[in-house]
Amino acid sequence: MVVSEIPAINITARNTRIIPFEYEYYEPRSLKEALELLDRYGDQARILAGGTDLLVKMKARLVEPRVVINVKKIDNLRYIVEDGEQVRIGALTRLRDIENSELVKKYIPALHDAVKSMGSIQIRNMATIGGNLCNASPAADTAPPLLVHNAKIVLSSVGGDRVLPLTEFFKGPGLTVLKPSELLREIIVEKTNAGSSAFKKVSRVAVDLAIASAAIYVEVEDGFIRNARIALGSVAPKPLRAVKTESLLRGLRIDSREVLNALKTIDEEISPITDVRSTAEYRRYVSKVLVLDALEVAYTRLKGGVHG
Ligand SMILES: Cc1cc2nc3c(=O)[nH]c(=O)nc-3n(C[C@H](O)[C@H](O)[C@H](O)COP(=O)(O)OP(=O)(O)OC[C@H]3O[C@@H](n4cnc5c(N)ncnc54)[C@H](O)[C@@H]3O)c2cc1C
Repeated sequence: MVVSEIPAINITARNTRIIPFEYEYYEPRSLKEALELLDRYGDQARILAGGTDLLVKMKARLVEPRVVINVKKIDNLRYIVEDGEQVRIGALTRLRDIENSELVKKYIPALHDAVKSMGSIQIRNMATIGGNLCNASPAADTAPPLLVHNAKIVLSSVGGDRVLPLTEFFKGPGLTVLKPSELLREIIVEKTNAGSSAFKKVSRVAVDLAIASAAIYVEVEDGFIRNARIALGSVAPKPLRAVKTESLLRGLRIDSREVLNALKTIDEEISPITDVRSTAEYRRYVSKVLVLDALEVAYTRLKGGVHG
């Protein structure tokens, strides 16, 4: 083949092998160094954690940062620890670490379910929990479990830390309240023995983002729901809590028809769209099924049954 016959590469198309633009690259070894870089470059910079979202977007030129700050070598942001009444998870903790964590399985079972369902082992070995939250996809699977566990997040900058409930973090698809100078450092979950939780999702094939997902946390006393928290993914511009449905569940017998009736209210709380993965109509239908399934699993766990 002569050179003139070689087809030109269209670098604006989705070529998955190359990053078709130049950028400055840093590998800070400490949080302090990373925060100083973020402070210096602000919105021109992007954090690279596992890269399983960012690199895909850079290759497709959906984002073109002038500066890439690879934080993966900062070891002290990768941990899952029990600290009094809390479980604290470093933002650079890999999904695979969470999958293998007995602490998460015991105290945040819905998160354990969610992580097991994400991507492939190769992806889970690279991807971080912080990256999943900061990417802010409406389909981010770690979000619904953390929302039903009332998780808090710690955002750090050279000016110090601020702690927010996760409910205040997401603004819309790909959008969060994170400032350009801030890094998500830690996720905090209160331990509880009063209730249990579960996560369910449906996707087109195993390694794909969710068509819809749901997490529930439930406390049950003498067969009656004492407290319930529900969160849904992929059915609105951001992962959300279904607070109206939650309030209707409180006080109902867990095995009653009223639970099914209450779940119909989910329709009012979501705003699904039709896209390549599914239709809005199917998302509406399946959301209620997922919540019901998750409720059954969480209740089985609460009674001491084994579920995954
Ligand atoms: C084949 C495949 C399958 C996938 N399956 C799933 C799935 O089933 N469910 C699902 O939810 N996702 C899935 N994903 C998406 C992705 O793997 C996850 O969202 C992952 O957790 C992202 O983490 P990361 O460390 O790779 O993030 P990165 O790609 O490194 O970063 C993502 C974004 O967050 C920012 N960021 C990262 N860490 C921080 C931080 N600590 N502070 C501030 N900003 C930060 C980055 O700048 C970037 O904008 C899949 C991806 C692929 C390629």
